[in-house]
Amino acid sequence: MSESYERRMKGMPVSPGIAMGCLRVEARGCPAPVTRNILPTETESEWARFESALARTEEELYALKERVEHLSGATEAAIFDAHLLFLRDRLIMKRLRKEFAERMHNIEAVYYAVVQNFMEVMRHVDDPYLRSRVADVEDVLQRVLKNMAPAVAATPQNTPCGCEPYVLAAYDLAPSDTADLDPRTVLGFVTEAGSAVSHTAILARSLGIPAVVGVPRLVMDARVGCRAVLDGYNGVLILNPTAETEAHYRALQVEKEKSYRALTELRDLPAITTDGHRIRLAANVEFAHEYDAIQRSGAEGVGLYRTEFFLLGGGSMPDEDTQYEHYRRLVEECAPHEVIFRTLDAGGDKLPFEVLEEKEDNPFLGWRGIRVSLSRPEVFKEQLRAVLRASAHGKAAVMFPMVSGITEVLQIKDLLAECRTELRERGQAFDEHLRVGIMIEVPSAAMMSDVLARHVDFFSIGTNDLTQYTIAVDRVNFRVSGMFRPTHPGVIRMMKQTISAGIPTAICGEMGADISLIPLLVGLGASELSVGTHLLPLVRYAIRHLNYDACRAMTEKALQAEDSYTIRALSQDLARASYAELFD
Ligand code: PEP
Ligand code: MG
Repeated sequence: MSESYERRMKGMPVSPGIAMGCLRVEARGCPAPVTRNILPTETESEWARFESALARTEEELYALKERVEHLSGATEAAIFDAHLLFLRDRLIMKRLRKEFAERMHNIEAVYYAVVQNFMEVMRHVDDPYLRSRVADVEDVLQRVLKNMAPAVAATPQNTPCGCEPYVLAAYDLAPSDTADLDPRTVLGFVTEAGSAVSHTAILARSLGIPAVVGVPRLVMDARVGCRAVLDGYNGVLILNPTAETEAHYRALQVEKEKSYRALTELRDLPAITTDGHRIRLAANVEFAHEYDAIQRSGAEGVGLYRTEFFLLGGGSMPDEDTQYEHYRRLVEECAPHEVIFRTLDAGGDKLPFEVLEEKEDNPFLGWRGIRVSLSRPEVFKEQLRAVLRASAHGKAAVMFPMVSGITEVLQIKDLLAECRTELRERGQAFDEHLRVGIMIEVPSAAMMSDVLARHVDFFSIGTNDLTQYTIAVDRVNFRVSGMFRPTHPGVIRMMKQTISAGIPTAICGEMGADISLIPLLVGLGASELSVGTHLLPLVRYAIRHLNYDACRAMTEKALQAEDSYTIRALSQDLARASYAELFD
């Protein structure tokens, strides 16, 4: 079967934009070999090539085992027994034979895809020992590929992109992998797993990298080195696009960039409805280098600074002074607007706070967010003091993730009081009126919001987690992503209850950037929306075309609705009637 004709693969759009370039398939540190078609007459020689690579790898592994045994003893050397077992694993070999016969691709490309799938299965098994062996399988894979390398010398047809910017395809990307992507090299990425509210997707949006997730059989079917168009608006990956397709997407790119520029020109106008209701429109920020994007978008400060990417991105936790300098710069850059620092939200799908010996079984319900900070009070206080000190240089606020009830709030306030006393003793300045808020993202906190409101200055509703925890649907599990519906009446009623507690309440989850749902959030009475800088101009435009009374009337109906579809439809109808042009 020739594979040079155009082929479309459908996924979920999670970060807007168009990327065009050649495709590179990667999986956690192991770059994929080039894929090429083979003729039926080549199958035997391909298989022989593979067998001899296996034999060579086997020799290497025995030699390594001997060396390590000699240097460190039998226990350390036993690791190579596991490598040797994987090398000839019956399941892998059976699958490889089948796929090789069906695909008629060079053997290393098929072997790579089969082993990648095998590793992915291992990553999700219950047995922690098996999970921890994934790295060994990857090691074996790399050795085998290296031993086949001479026979796949690059030709102009099959050479992957080299140093050229490329479109990245992977089974999945961890948030930490995504944070490391350089937008100058990676034009866009597409994954087989993933969901719209995972931190991988959120980071793609902050980096401005077009992204599509949830493409079935991507790693198996994608061909390294072929040309690709990634449509981050509609969630489509096009392999081997025709000249007409590329021309179409180039024109679309120009058109979208033009309308985006037109929207950013409105940046100095307030986010105010047609009947004069003002909403603070702030930015969600993940990286220090987003200062320019904040200014360009016209955000009124930062509504959510996810500090974990700064704190954990470099390997070790920065000390108080380093944090202070970093926070101070952001506060100064955003003056006179406020920057809301969300304290470390480690755990869940994000970077771990410390290397856990064993992965947690249910990380989203485990050692995450404020639980991590409260169990490390000295480290937590360094962050609190750094934020307090930064508040002397402009306007800052602090808020806390994953709060479930009053006990945590009281503990936090005690620690904050200690930090204030320490700073006074040191003679270091801070804003005595620094606002203190909590995120409402756990149902118990939403239910207790009237009580919690007596102890804090503001709430910020994290709709990503509030949806996850209310409907009991893992935000990063693509098998249940269809159930992840922030307009579930259970979620909407909790949001209403939270806002009714009567203190300023922002929405900082991804729901705030969904232009279909802005009428609902305005109608619920949110005082602030905080969204990624790339989507902020659209949200401003939307708010400026809405009528507050109409939003409230629609929301009254939505609060009586029985299902998520009706609520979405009610909001979307008003959105389309108010700013149809944003839906083109
Ligand atoms: C949320 O949960 O909605 C939120 C904004 O926080 P994060 O996405 O970082 O968990
Ligand atoms: Mg959250």
